[in-house]
Amino acid sequence: MDNMSEIVERLRMAFRSGITIPEEFRCLQLSKLRSMIKENEEDILNALHADLRKPKFEAILSEIDLVTNELHYAINNLHSWMQPEYVTKNLATKMDDCFVRREPLGVVLIIGTWNYPLQLLILPMVGAIAAGNCVVIKPSEVSATADRLIAELIPKYLSEDCYAVVSGGAEETKALLQNRFDHIFYTGSQVVARSVLQAASVHLTPVTLELGGKCPCFIYGTVTIEAVARRLVWAKFFNAGQSCVAPDYVLCSMATRDALLLALCETLKDFYGNDPQTSPDLCRIVSQRHWTRLTELLKKSNGTVVVGGETDHKDKYIAPTVVYVAEDDTLMKEEIFGPILPILTVESLEEAIDFVNHKEKPLALYIFSNETSVINTVLEKTSSGGFCSNDGIIHMTLPGLPFGGVGASGWGSYHGRWGFETFSHRRACMMRGWALEKLNGLRYPPYGDNKLSWLRWTTSPKATCLLM
Ligand code: NAD
Repeated sequence: MDNMSEIVERLRMAFRSGITIPEEFRCLQLSKLRSMIKENEEDILNALHADLRKPKFEAILSEIDLVTNELHYAINNLHSWMQPEYVTKNLATKMDDCFVRREPLGVVLIIGTWNYPLQLLILPMVGAIAAGNCVVIKPSEVSATADRLIAELIPKYLSEDCYAVVSGGAEETKALLQNRFDHIFYTGSQVVARSVLQAASVHLTPVTLELGGKCPCFIYGTVTIEAVARRLVWAKFFNAGQSCVAPDYVLCSMATRDALLLALCETLKDFYGNDPQTSPDLCRIVSQRHWTRLTELLKKSNGTVVVGGETDHKDKYIAPTVVYVAEDDTLMKEEIFGPILPILTVESLEEAIDFVNHKEKPLALYIFSNETSVINTVLEKTSSGGFCSNDGIIHMTLPGLPFGGVGASGWGSYHGRWGFETFSHRRACMMRGWALEKLNGLRYPPYGDNKLSWLRWTTSPKATCLLM
């Protein structure tokens, strides 16, 4: 048996022993995870800085606090999430106990990516532990320092029988995927998602896919352009644009574009100074390979760079950049995932909606407008994983909202209760007794029209209403 199979087998044995089932065990592991974050905050911040030069402020907001808040939320709500959910009965099942029971799936695999190395592994892990599963996590090799730290810390804090970290890149992940899991939770690109799906199909393993795409940002109608610029710049250039929910491009009228450009220039100067490369508040591109992909995209673009455009290979730096583009520009062909913001002009709101609706459904969609009717029109006429008006990114910080894509931007969701649900099986339970055997007799042969009409009545909505 190879090393990975041994790990999965060890976890499977632990799962079969039932150790992860009691609420106390799940709570204890979640509390230990919380301690792990708290006691190692400095090391985590250093690792994120080493991998991405992530500013402490951004790291605390988007990794440390997001994960800690999720842990608090899960610990506080676990008891109620685990309770059976009683369902409405009909006359035929009046004497029965009918409920949905949440059960763990078994041994689950969580594959993370590098842009939020802690958040994208631990947040799904919270749901998986809360639901009572054993968990293998696979950090991204691209954020190597965070990968090493997570691999070192998890066994120190959590039960080694139930939780494991496997490090490595594509080859190791492929080897890991040869094993049978009860659920696979994958965050990353659409290309790799296809090979994850192929591997999962061998064992008919259900999969959650947290993918990306191009998140559009509409600016339409009357707006306070300075406020739009501040919120847009923050959401776009947070983590140097390496966020799956970062606004990918802007759709607006020509007049709005002119006003926006002035406001963007002012805001960028306010946020990052005259030379953003010297600002401690701007992340770097994660690797030379990713830097090359982004700078190639810029080179191939036929658009007009109106802000930024400076790059520095050694420093993995790309300045916050704004480009005026046409619809067929290279920058509009793939997800940017970096600090480059294309702006596309449209004649009308309908044209903008039509443009977005002819593309894959995005992970998030943003609309900036002072007019509620405009916001509601965009909400009603488009589809996306998440929606946020008059801001960007922020919607994903609320554990009450499910986080996930739709169509090509992902399948399934997590955060808060949604993570617990993703990693639970909803078992339909009907606990029947021996009462009302006369009523039961209606379904036994010899069949007859009279029996049938009584039986149909006992399961009808009318009879159900009588019980309420
Ligand atoms: P990636 O897909 O290259 O890597 C992600 C994980 O897959 C890593 O753990 C990696 O080791 C593994 N991997 C890489 N190649 C593999 C292969 N051939 N077979 C099996 N496993 C493999 O990550 P990426 O493309 O750099 O990530 C960026 C993408 O992820 C963007 O599209 C972004 O939008 C998306 N993303 C989505 C979310 C979300 O929550 N929806 C969050 C972050 C990033």
